[in-house]
Amino acid sequence: MPGAKISPGVRFRRRLRLDRGTGMSAWPTHARIDGPIVMVGFGSIGRGTLPLILRHIACDPARITVIDPVPSHRHLVELAGARFVNAAVTRQNVRALLLPLLTSGGGRPFMVNLSVDVSSKALIEICREAGALYIDTVTEPWLGHYTDPALTIAERSNYVLRESLLDLRRRQPGGPTAISCCGANPGMASWLVKQALLNLASDMNIAAAAAARREDWAMLMKRLGVRGIHIAERDTQRARDPRPCGVFVNTWSVEGFVAEGLQPAELGWGTHEKALPPEGRRHTSGCGAAIYLTRPGAETRVRSWTPLAEGQIAFLVTHNESISIADYFTLRRAGRVVFRPTCHYAYHPCDDAVLSLHELAGRQWQPLGRWKILDETEIVEGADELGVLLYGHDRNAYWFGSRLSIDEARRLAPHQNATGLQVTSAVLAGMVWALENPAAGIVEADEIDFRRCLDLQRPYLGALMGVYTDWTPLSGRDAALFPDNVDRGDPWQFTNVLVRETPIEPFETDRRPKRRAAS
Ligand code: NAD
Repeated sequence: MPGAKISPGVRFRRRLRLDRGTGMSAWPTHARIDGPIVMVGFGSIGRGTLPLILRHIACDPARITVIDPVPSHRHLVELAGARFVNAAVTRQNVRALLLPLLTSGGGRPFMVNLSVDVSSKALIEICREAGALYIDTVTEPWLGHYTDPALTIAERSNYVLRESLLDLRRRQPGGPTAISCCGANPGMASWLVKQALLNLASDMNIAAAAAARREDWAMLMKRLGVRGIHIAERDTQRARDPRPCGVFVNTWSVEGFVAEGLQPAELGWGTHEKALPPEGRRHTSGCGAAIYLTRPGAETRVRSWTPLAEGQIAFLVTHNESISIADYFTLRRAGRVVFRPTCHYAYHPCDDAVLSLHELAGRQWQPLGRWKILDETEIVEGADELGVLLYGHDRNAYWFGSRLSIDEARRLAPHQNATGLQVTSAVLAGMVWALENPAAGIVEADEIDFRRCLDLQRPYLGALMGVYTDWTPLSGRDAALFPDNVDRGDPWQFTNVLVRETPIEPFETDRRPKRRAAS
């Protein structure tokens, strides 16, 4: 009706479907949800995911409920036409709070868990009871788990959290689809590995096609000579205002990052590795794909490479994909492991986060008191470059991933920075896959259709590119002023990747010619 007033919510939802560059309706609808949608947690990732759901999934916004104990962004939920419930999900109230929300009004429910401190396993169990689809971006325990001094280091590992979910799957196979750990990493990283393998095969003139079976993927990786994978990330996003002392600044969850930084460093442990590092420990049960180090990831630095950074020192913080990818690509013969890649995260967060970690370490890991997640209005420049570095093969190393700038992120979708959009677009892709495959049971990102998911995510990834490099963890170390304990014969040993605070006794004598002392 001409002259009729349009509410800000309706205007917001209409604008969401328009391409910001052309003003035309350019965004496809990928799927439909006919039941209630329950979003747990409305932090930086939740705020970015909601507009993507409304843009690409046909649903009734009035049937979306967002739950968060912090009401600071209630207005964004209401603008979207959804309902905000100001509450914390706890061990005590989880069933009473969530079951009625999932089962009211008919249709197939969908739970999107983007919270911290809420047990993923407990939510999946409730979703199975309600017949609801489920997705999360991390296997999260209940509040207090990460910092419980009564737990052993191994018990605080992601390996153990993942094993408990695998155990639930063994006990309850099938059922409604629940995708575990489907963000950028964990999540998209698993899809990038498969695409990178196919690219590598094509560049090496080795015939290969997307395989249907897990073992065939593992065989392809072995055949290509890939010995390991870094999930190699460099975040160069920079804020307008300098970071004040005493404030932990990051481009995504500070609580999430600090929690994982204080878990033990963990990595998938490849069959090419000659020896465990002195602080390396194996688990006594489970799939056996990973080890942990007896120190926090936030204090564990590794040498790695991305196209933007080139050689860089990054943090080996634990991540689910380090374990799930190593497990997925394991080959066994007669029960014996014959191939497995080493796999770990090598993360250089934004510079403000590096400074924040430094300050946190100086306080012996006591919280800084205040924190801030930089949003798209505060960041003035930079990009998040997130990819997988497949190394050890005949072409040395190949990085394949997404470089997304803050400017592109702002143009593409509201309420998120570049880091956020790499995550939220993976959540969207996972949700669409779940709707297309609603009875797949509990699955990890490694097990779902990488091609479909990357296709869905592609418009939000900026430049998706593959780059070869001749860099190795030994690059530049010949000129080192302090001789290091390196394995020159095998550059890609983890012992060369790990940065040691104090070089231990060199096992090679310093071969450089000695200068005669000045007389
Ligand atoms: P955030 O810290 O910005 O938001 C978390 C939200 O959870 C907050 O709004 C908080 O109030 C809410 N919350 C806390 N306790 C809760 C409870 N008991 N019940 C309900 N809500 C509660 O974090 P974020 O950046 O939005 O990240 C969300 C999750 O996604 C985190 O677990 C994070 O580790 C994960 N993440 C995964 C990836 C990936 O690529 N896989 C990337 C970024 C973040």
